Amino acid sequence: MSILKISKIGHPILLKECSEIKEFSSDTLKKIVYDMSETMLDYNGIGLAAPQVHISKKIIVFRNPDNEEKDKIEITPLINPIFTPMGKETEDDWEGCLSIPGMQGLVRRFKKIKYSGFDLDGKEIENEVEGLHARVVQHEVDHLNGILYTSRLAHKNAFGFEKEITTYWKNEQNRK
Ligand code: ZN
Repeated sequence: MSILKISKIGHPILLKECSEIKEFSSDTLKKIVYDMSETMLDYNGIGLAAPQVHISKKIIVFRNPDNEEKDKIEITPLINPIFTPMGKETEDDWEGCLSIPGMQGLVRRFKKIKYSGFDLDGKEIENEVEGLHARVVQHEVDHLNGILYTSRLAHKNAFGFEKEITTYWKNEQNRK
């Protein structure tokens, strides 16, 4: 396994729609997923999409935030994923992205979604999730369509360096 180089905002691969995976169970696909998982853990990320490691294909990996308290890390790879919102309710929360290092933005996402995709062997995976789990999947699927969270800000000014966001936005919010 190897740790891959992360593409950063400004690189055109992050703005392109990725192509679908047609062949499952291949060694190539397995290697990409293992390398992406290792890269995500090394950077302490919660999710990673293939274009973030310069691969323009519909592959994401993410940690399951619902299971993290059990002291183990569970990584879900998802191939050709899609999601549909369940209801119109949205939530605003702070997000970061390994392709936009050191920055955070307040992003509006659907609260509940239904997602589907395939595992490494082409078996269909379906899930209904909400909260952080739903947020991570929406963020990563956006990457596959060439969309970064900076185009989904809840407010156009709610974006900046982590330190400034913590000082001027999060602390402000806590005081309310
Ligand atoms: Zn991202």
